[in-house]
Amino acid sequence: MALAMLKNPTVPQHGWQALVRAIEQLATANDLADVIAIVRSTARDISGADGICFVLRDGECCHYVEELAIGPLWKGKRFPLTACISGWCMLNDQSAVIPDIYLDPRIPHDAYRPTFVKSLVMVPVKTTKPIAAIGTYWAETREFSDDELALIEALGRSTSAAIAAAQLRQSLVESEHRLAMALDAGGLGAWELNLGTCELIATPAAKIMFGADPDAPFGRDDLLAGIHPDDREAAAWLFETGLSRDEEYRSADGSRRLELRGRMVTDGDGTPVRVTGVVRDVTERHQAKERLESLRSELVRVARLNDLGAMASALAHELNQPLAAASNYLHAAERLMDRDPAQALSAITKAEAQFVRTKDIIQRIRGFVGQGKSERTAEDAELVCREVLELARMTARHDDVAMYLKADTGLPKVQIDKVQIQQVLFNLLRNAVEAMGDSATRRVTISVTAEGDMVKLAVADTGPGLDPDIAAHLFQPFHTTKEGGMGVGLSLCRKIVEAQGGKLWHEPGNPGATFVFTVPVTEQAATS
Ligand code: ADP
Repeated sequence: MALAMLKNPTVPQHGWQALVRAIEQLATANDLADVIAIVRSTARDISGADGICFVLRDGECCHYVEELAIGPLWKGKRFPLTACISGWCMLNDQSAVIPDIYLDPRIPHDAYRPTFVKSLVMVPVKTTKPIAAIGTYWAETREFSDDELALIEALGRSTSAAIAAAQLRQSLVESEHRLAMALDAGGLGAWELNLGTCELIATPAAKIMFGADPDAPFGRDDLLAGIHPDDREAAAWLFETGLSRDEEYRSADGSRRLELRGRMVTDGDGTPVRVTGVVRDVTERHQAKERLESLRSELVRVARLNDLGAMASALAHELNQPLAAASNYLHAAERLMDRDPAQALSAITKAEAQFVRTKDIIQRIRGFVGQGKSERTAEDAELVCREVLELARMTARHDDVAMYLKADTGLPKVQIDKVQIQQVLFNLLRNAVEAMGDSATRRVTISVTAEGDMVKLAVADTGPGLDPDIAAHLFQPFHTTKEGGMGVGLSLCRKIVEAQGGKLWHEPGNPGATFVFTVPVTEQAATS
């Protein structure tokens, strides 16, 4: 078949102009659909072709997604990459210039026979690897000039850049959407402070949390105004450094609690440029924590009252002694008053001393019951232990148990809720005494040692050690080997110690068991 070769040595001026226009439009295309629409009309404009196809690579297939032609081509169809010329283009990363399709073995002639196409130019669209192809088709056989090819290839290159930018924009929109969803799900608001301009951007949720109108402009000062005056300095510190000093901040009127976290973002040289962060309303969590705290204090108080119930008879005995002695002294004084006033006075003084002893005992008990309020103060760990030992010794059952206290000299002060820590010690002592039952040697030693920023207290006994069944569930409530035991003592002890920043654990002794716990030293002692 003779070829009707139509030589087209020059590309009309308007072709280049159309390309420039297209490049401008492509630069602002929002998504792939926009890009395809621009390419479809521009390809036809610059080439003067009778038909245009835009083909996307879809895995191992070519997907003919769009066309603009004088007769139907293959819009919406998919072919294997190896079965069509667009696939050849993408696989070989080359343009295909075909003056007569029926003379070219790369063309699937059967697919072309129902169409008007006689010649074509197909160019790949690629960033690193071809992702698409642009096909230009003519209803006659013809040759193509280098300029014509260059023009269509230039469109292919511009298209690839536009697709990459559109995909980037799309994924940015999607990731913004995902971020908004994640923030929403976590009940979080987000904010970002530009350190250069002091401009602040915040999500509507964040503005609401800071008590501002979500639609109104919002700056650094508005955000600070949403925080309680006493907490503002800490918040300002966060904005300047990206470091959180506090976990929670009160809202301006103090009715709500906000958790604020931030992160400093630096430029390439390490210069801080902005602080980004999140905010969360944690009022409910805070209230739950407070409820838990008061519940724990209440539990400790109830446990103490139970202990006191058990100690009541021992205490009656303990108080009886000085009271009986005082009464005897007073009787004697009465009798001696006339005969020997000096002796009578001495008896009265002795009676007084007995009353003082009674008062001491009562005061100790009162202190031990406590008010159920958690208060941490600087305490002398040795003294704390000594008081507990004295109380423990008072109970009749403990009489035949030797109790020792070994304390390091020069111990730093500890920051504790004394009442609660004494309860822990008392529970451990009572467990030790109960465990020793009929043991030949019945000895409990409390030792107090300093360990860095902590003071370690250990209660060691000479009993049989832990029952293996209990050892596996130690510190879990309701595991007990005692008839009538509740099995909450140790779990409560651990909670009390942890709430005060320490740890409580068990160490097997030889013989017996040792329960050890730590409490923090005061801030002053830690820094000195
Ligand atoms: P309870 O004293 O009501 O049983 P605890 O939680 O204080 O509850 O103790 C749980 C169990 O741990 C006790 O029943 C006992 O078997 C074991 N236990 C605790 N302290 C010791 C100890 N010093 N020696 C041996 N066993 C102990």
